[in-house]
Amino acid sequence: MAKKNKTVEMIKVCGIEPESIVDGPGFRYVLFVQGCSHHCKGCHNPESWATDAGEDMTVDEIFAEIKSNPNLSGVTLSGGEPFEQVEPLLSLAKMIKAEGLHLMSYSGYTLEELEGRGDAATDELLGLLDMLVDGRYIEEQRNLTLIYRGSENQRVIDMNRTREARKAAVANGSEVELYHSDFDIEIEI
Ligand code: SF4
Repeated sequence: MAKKNKTVEMIKVCGIEPESIVDGPGFRYVLFVQGCSHHCKGCHNPESWATDAGEDMTVDEIFAEIKSNPNLSGVTLSGGEPFEQVEPLLSLAKMIKAEGLHLMSYSGYTLEELEGRGDAATDELLGLLDMLVDGRYIEEQRNLTLIYRGSENQRVIDMNRTREARKAAVANGSEVELYHSDFDIEIEI
């Protein structure tokens, strides 16, 4: 019988914050991926730009770390640019959602740009997200009172409500773009 080659999916990792309360709602595991082509001026994490740096970790290895902490309520994909490593992150996202955890991702791409790719894996990953913080960081629009985002152009999108609203819109022939999350607000300082 022919031997089947098992593909081990790797993710290029810039860093991990195993327990965070600032990178999304609740108590979260944060995966900072390596590699970002946006090169935003004033980026908080320029060491994450190079694609030939960071550490290679398997999807299984990262998921094992997540699963080993019963206190986690969610996982955040950050960067770097998560949507430049869609295939392995899709595999990880499926495992995370099967565990019932909240899944949030950052992306320097806007939701419209990601949907405009016409790429099945990108669409599937978007379909698993509970929240997306989208758009490049624009230093001139920096605002320290925003929650989970650094500049005013970025949006905290409630992906579940957006999907539901879009379905209803298709059914009744109206148009819905997206729903901003309840976190898409400024805090008082
Ligand atoms: S998208 Fe994020 S990680 Fe990439 S350059 Fe912009 S701020 Fe930095």
